[in-house]
Order: sequence, then C-alpha cells, then structure tokens
Amino acid sequence: MSLWPRAVYVHVPFCLHHCGYCDFTLVASRDHLIPQYLECLSREIRHQTAGLSLPLPVDTIFIGGGTPTHLTPDQLQILLTTISQAFELSEQGEFSVEANPDGLDDPRLAVLQSFRVNRLSLGVQSFDQSQLQTLERTHQPADALEVIQRARKYFQNVSVDLIFGVPGQSLSAWEQTLLTAAALPIQHISTYGLTYEQGTPFFRRANQGVLRKLPDEVERDMYLAAIRILQSHGLNHYEVSNFARDGFQCRHNMVYWTADEYFAFGPGAARYIHGVRSTGVRSVVRWLRSWNHHEPCLEDVEQNTSEEKAREAVMLGLRLRKGFRISDLEHRFNVCLRALAGPALDRGFRNGLIEESEGFLRLTENGLLLADTVVSDFLVGDDP
Ligand code: SF4
Repeated sequence: MSLWPRAVYVHVPFCLHHCGYCDFTLVASRDHLIPQYLECLSREIRHQTAGLSLPLPVDTIFIGGGTPTHLTPDQLQILLTTISQAFELSEQGEFSVEANPDGLDDPRLAVLQSFRVNRLSLGVQSFDQSQLQTLERTHQPADALEVIQRARKYFQNVSVDLIFGVPGQSLSAWEQTLLTAAALPIQHISTYGLTYEQGTPFFRRANQGVLRKLPDEVERDMYLAAIRILQSHGLNHYEVSNFARDGFQCRHNMVYWTADEYFAFGPGAARYIHGVRSTGVRSVVRWLRSWNHHEPCLEDVEQNTSEEKAREAVMLGLRLRKGFRISDLEHRFNVCLRALAGPALDRGFRNGLIEESEGFLRLTENGLLLADTVVSDFLVGDDP
C-alpha cells in the first residue's frame, strides 16, 4: 500500500457571480487572476510533491470550486495538464469535476473528456425558476435540463446538487424538483439544506428579516421527501446528504467519510497527509501573493492524537447510512469505542439516535434528522 494518499482535491476559486448564500473560497468577476492562479497552483503542486517520483498513482481526483468550468477551454487544458503531470489516475479511477450549467459548452466538455475526467458534478440546485432567482443562480431550469442531456454524451456518471429550505419554497415545489431530477439520466444526487453562514449576504438579510427562513418542520419534511422520492426512484441513500444508483457512490467523498488521507491544492483546500490536517490560506489574494513568492501558506495545521483521529473517524463514519464497523475502527486506531465515547454512546442509544447492528454503529432514522448534533457529541470526551 502506498505511503502517500491515493486521492487528490484541487480547488478552483473562480465564479461568474458570488451567490448570496455561498461562503466557499472564491472570487467573482476577477478572471484576470486566472493565469496567475494556474501558475501558482503548479508551484504548489511541485512544492508538495518535491522529491517524489511523479506522476504519483492515485484512485480519485476531484476538481471543485468555485466553478472549475468557469475557466476557458485553454485554461482548463493548462489546469488538467498540470494535474496529470503530477498524478496518474489508476485504470478504474474516478475523476470528478464540478460544473455549473451556464457556460458548460461542448469545447469545455471535450477538454475534460480528453483528460479522462469521468464524472461531472453539476450545481443545478433547483428546477424552479423562482428558487433559482432567490438563490441568485445565473442559469435557468431549461439550461440545466439541456446541459445534463449534453453532458451524458461525454460522461456516463453525472451527479447533480440540489438545495432545499429556500425562502418561499413550498414542499410541493421541492418534491417537483426531486421528481424532475429523479427522472433524468443521472447517477447521483446530493441534497443540501440551505444554511445561512455568518458573513454572507443571506445571513445579513435573514437577520434583517428580509429573507424568511423556512420553519424547521418544513425543512425536516423536505429532507424526508428527498429520501422517500429518490429511494423510490432507485437512488440509494448512502450518506446523510447523498444518493446514488448502484455502483455510483462518490468514491472521492468516500475517502473523506472513511477518514482516509488526501492531497489538496488551491486556496482554502483542506488536506490530510501523514496524519496532519492543514488548510491552504482561505483568502484567494493572500494565497496568490504567497505562491507568487514561492512561499507555502497553510492555516490550521493540526497533528491529531490517535484518540482525536478515532473521534473524527466516528463522526465521519456515522454520516454513512451503513455506519462503520466497530472492530475495524478499534483495530485501526488501537482504541476501545466504549472507553473513547461511552457517555456519547449511551446518550445516543437511550435517545434512539444510534443503533448497533451486525457489528456496525449507525444513525437511526431519528438520528438522521439530527445528524449534525448526534455526530458532534462524539467530538470531545465527557469530563469524568
Ligand atoms: S456558483 Fe457555487 S461556488 Fe460559485 S458562488 Fe454560487 S454557490 Fe458558490
């Protein structure tokens, strides 16, 4: 087994427009920075892989953003050349690229295909025009439908992201979006509840009462509707927010949920290498400035103890619907789960939020509705 991670994430921090709810690392309308970004990314990759025999073999590559396909076909070609010089995807590897429907034309799709990209993750969010407008998305429902059909000519594996809990959205409008998505020739769907992150325009507008958050019960019903509708259309619920047809679970994201290690490059990109987690500096301008001077710029560098790693693995593993095999976790981190998290286990069992079955620990259906709260209970030990 390789001593180096077998997964790579590359962050492309450019978008056409900065949607009001988004707190990802990105800049909009600063396309003049793209050539500099490509040069700096190449430096960062060379720096992190210095002394290694390249290209390194990997099983998954994921280019996310931002909007990677906001780059022109020529710029995409440079990006993919840089990545492929450093990393070689295994024969059966998964190579995902995030994209938005607007601007995703044939020349871009052809460049992606020519570099062995084999999975497209599309930021569709909704098939309802008014919801797209509220979310400040720049495409129309018809654009998404057209792009999905076109993308399928290039890729067998297409995923779409959908958002529920949008101000003004009714349960039936959300169900309609789900039904539309489920009838499309796609293999994977991610559904996210809208969040109001501090510092975003949506956070401010919600506090001012300009945007009205949906009641928790409505959001819960929307989440349950997603599970019911997507599962009944053959999309298996395999992670808290993710659904896939048989054999199409996102292999790259499985690396995260099984607490395995991965390379990451670009501003704000989080990596996990040789037991150390760190994040590229989140400001795009500061990241560019550092790499222009050939200086690495990491934030939040953490070397976790075995106990902390085990806790993280529990939290991540519980996000999977099948949960995690307790004996595997205990063996891998040389811990006893009960000694690690006895009180959290007791609370979870007592409240019907977690269950143990055939050696696996997993969330119950009630636990699923409170997933973030339940998993965070395992983050720190209880005081004696
Ligand atoms: S397109 Fe996506 S990444 Fe870009 S600003 Fe909107 S939500 Fe954020």
